[in-house]
Amino acid sequence: MAKDARDNDDDSPSALEIATRLERLGRLLRQAGHAGGLVPAQWEVLRYLARANRLSRSPGAVARYLGTTKGTVSQSLLTLQRKGLVTRRTSAADERQVLLDLTESGRAKLTSDPLQALAGDLDNLGGKTRRRLARGLSELLGQEITRQKAARFGTCEGCAHLREGRDGSSCAVDKAPVAAAERLLLCASFALEKGA
Ligand code: SF4
Repeated sequence: MAKDARDNDDDSPSALEIATRLERLGRLLRQAGHAGGLVPAQWEVLRYLARANRLSRSPGAVARYLGTTKGTVSQSLLTLQRKGLVTRRTSAADERQVLLDLTESGRAKLTSDPLQALAGDLDNLGGKTRRRLARGLSELLGQEITRQKAARFGTCEGCAHLREGRDGSSCAVDKAPVAAAERLLLCASFALEKGA
C-alpha cells in the first residue's frame, strides 16, 4: 500500500503525493481539451485515429481503447464527421466492418492539439529525465490496465501475430504485409508473445 505523505523520511514526495499530482495533471489536461471548437472526448478520438493501424480503426476499437461506450464514441464521431475531420467507409474485405479515417483537415487539426503544450514541457525536461519518465509511466499504465482488466493495445514489436519472412513482415491476423511505418501504430489485435 502507498505510504502517507507524513511517512516520508526525506524531502522527496510520497508515492501517494505523486499519485495525487498525476490525478491533478490529468484533470487540468482534460480542462485544456475544451479548445479549437472541440471537447476533450473528440480530441481523444482524433489522437487515437492518428495512431491506430488498419485493424483498429472501427468505432468499437475506439470505444475499447478509450474505455467508453460505443454510444459515447458515436456522438463524438458524428460531430467529427460533420466538421469534416473524420470519414467513415466500409472495409473492402468485409462490408459489415466500418473503417474510420482522419481527413487531411483532421490531421491538420492535430497540429493545434492542446496536448502539444505538455509535449513541449516534456521536451524541455531533457533526454535522460524524459526517458526515465517514459519508462516509469509505461510501467504504471501497464499495471493500471491489468488492475482494471482494460483493453491492452500494442504495436507489432513483441506481438505474437507478427511473421518475418524473406519478402518482409506480415500479420497472421489478416495475412497482409506490415510496412515499416505500420509497425509503430497502435493495434487492437495485439497479442503479447509467450514469455514476454
Ligand atoms: S502483428 Fe500484431 S500488432 Fe501487428 S498488425 Fe498484426 S496483430 Fe496487430
